[in-house]
Amino acid sequence: MTTRKTELRPETLAAQGMGRVAVPYRDIVPPIHVTTTFERGADLMFPGGRVYSRADNPSYDQAEALLAALEGGPAALLFASGMAAAAAVFQSLAPGDCVLAPRNMYWALRKWLLDFMVPWGVSVDFYDNASLDSLAERTRSRRPRLIWIETPANPTWDITDIAAACALAREVGARVAVDSTVATPLLTRPLEQGADLVMHSATKYLNGHSDVIAGALATARDDELWQRIRYVRGGGGAVLGPFEAWLLLRGMRTLHLRVAAACANAQAIAERFDGDARIAQVLYPGLRMHPGHAVAARQMHGGFGGMLSLRVAQGEAAAIAFTARLRVFKRATSLGSVESLAEHRASVEGPGTACPADLVRLSIGVEHADDLIADIEQALA
Ligand code: PLP
Repeated sequence: MTTRKTELRPETLAAQGMGRVAVPYRDIVPPIHVTTTFERGADLMFPGGRVYSRADNPSYDQAEALLAALEGGPAALLFASGMAAAAAVFQSLAPGDCVLAPRNMYWALRKWLLDFMVPWGVSVDFYDNASLDSLAERTRSRRPRLIWIETPANPTWDITDIAAACALAREVGARVAVDSTVATPLLTRPLEQGADLVMHSATKYLNGHSDVIAGALATARDDELWQRIRYVRGGGGAVLGPFEAWLLLRGMRTLHLRVAAACANAQAIAERFDGDARIAQVLYPGLRMHPGHAVAARQMHGGFGGMLSLRVAQGEAAAIAFTARLRVFKRATSLGSVESLAEHRASVEGPGTACPADLVRLSIGVEHADDLIADIEQALA
């Protein structure tokens, strides 16, 4: 593979998948490497630089290099899912370590932390996503090894100030990892704000077409922690298939177009229904009344993301009836794809959820904004 060395903008890097062409045919689209193993030389060395595909696969290289470049770090790793990427970070800790996580976060990861990390001996404590005072108090009293951030955070899109959280973490020597799935590397670059690790459910915006489950991490430094995480991937074996890595790179090549379109549509929808008597609250960080708007305006560039939630004025039954009447939005879980999705979030999260019962989560796609607005209108009517 050869790479051009010029400093290029994220849009150009994404569109050209790092601008690499493969030898010997000069393919513009990279080949898929399905091999599980690589030939050793007679001297027992590995002249191709690879040993076995559970450690890594050449099909990962271009997507990992692109994600590292977009995040502004020296390296990235692909995983079999977003959960596998997040789990690798927590599994790199040791029993006795403490993790601080936000109260509002992707519910399945919160549950996994409590069901698996706590019995394993890692203590998990929660802070209020939108309150730096809460994070400061927890950080100074618990002295965590890792602070986990999700911003904007499911399903209310609370915003955490990444730079301020990193300053607090430095006081106690904690690492900071940011689930930046919703922000994408185009809107927020957590490593530039002091974070140590960035995590993505690549299933969402990075791939963007609802046809790949994948995860990714990017790092600020290729250090001992990063090598341990790499060992968790190869040793634990939660590896992505080569075809999925190839599809992921193909999706990433239009990331900038999809994210810009989703942000513009989400902003238009949020503004259209903000103040509507049938909606108790529109939760979207792009609205000035959102409690996280000022911080989001500082740490997000180019838009406030494609995720928003509507709290339906007449409560849970009305929220469920609203989703049932949608025609253009598809009723499905997940987010970050080209098609718009809607879900009554509390019924997905199940008993014990902190999600308001009247909340409908919308993942805004790249359709025409007027069609999406008309669909919401008719479903509310
Ligand atoms: N983080 C966030 C913010 C998510 O929304 C999700 C999935 O919905 C995950 C992590 C987990 O990712 P995956 O489904 O790819 O395992």
